Amino acid sequence: MKRILIAVVLIQVGSVLFSQEIPQIDWAALQKTKPWEATEVWEPVPAKVTPGVYTSPPSDAIVLFDGKNLEQWVTPEVDYGARMDVVEAILKKRMNGYSKAPAKWVVKDGECIVNPGSGAIETKTGFGDMQLHIEWLCPTDPGKEGQAYSNSGIFFMGLYELQVLNSYENSTYSNGQAGAMYKQSIPMVNASRPSGEWQSYDVVFTAPHFKRDGSLESPAYVTAFHNGVLIQNHAELKGPCVFIGKPYYVAHPDKMPLLLQDHGDKVRYRNIWVRPL
Ligand code: MG
Repeated sequence: MKRILIAVVLIQVGSVLFSQEIPQIDWAALQKTKPWEATEVWEPVPAKVTPGVYTSPPSDAIVLFDGKNLEQWVTPEVDYGARMDVVEAILKKRMNGYSKAPAKWVVKDGECIVNPGSGAIETKTGFGDMQLHIEWLCPTDPGKEGQAYSNSGIFFMGLYELQVLNSYENSTYSNGQAGAMYKQSIPMVNASRPSGEWQSYDVVFTAPHFKRDGSLESPAYVTAFHNGVLIQNHAELKGPCVFIGKPYYVAHPDKMPLLLQDHGDKVRYRNIWVRPL
């Protein structure tokens, strides 16, 4: 008798433990307590934004260049540094005040073209975290190669360069090709279009933050799409992007201008807009 009882209990326990049955929710009964409401989050309500047509600016963007003029830009007395000691000196100058002249790049047919020798241009407004959309074109220039073939660059905060270069069948060091965070992060793929064709970058830039004593609190990060293809996925930067030597962080303000590089080539830009984050 006892053995039969144990066997029955074991069978019942087993049927509960190994049951494949899917629980049935009694919706009618739950209407009284509505337990699903406990996991609904209603605040904050995301602000409504009318998306742009294709890549035209969305309603809440700051348009930096709409094809008409360079009113949002200036030529800074100091631009970017090729080595960290130069970067440090430039930062000091930037924080103590520096002169700015009107931007001297050429505006023509809705495009803004690098005016070789006139220097970098930077925004009048400072930015920290941002979403950036920018379109660029590397002119076809037979005979040029490597870093000398349609080089420019987008410097977030005037310090952190997303490389602009003709990297369509034009080899150079991987961490210096189009889509690289210059000398720091190689793009995941080469999504370049041929020279002479318009290309786009869509970027989420996270600014670094510094403690009161000037030490680093959190580094800069970059997520970027080149012609719609992910090329940088939350890439961490080690400091400003420099040509010579290893980078390191130097404390700077939370917001600084976006800068476009004059590397001596007539690279063309259009449709530039940002959404500060
Ligand atoms: Mg460059």
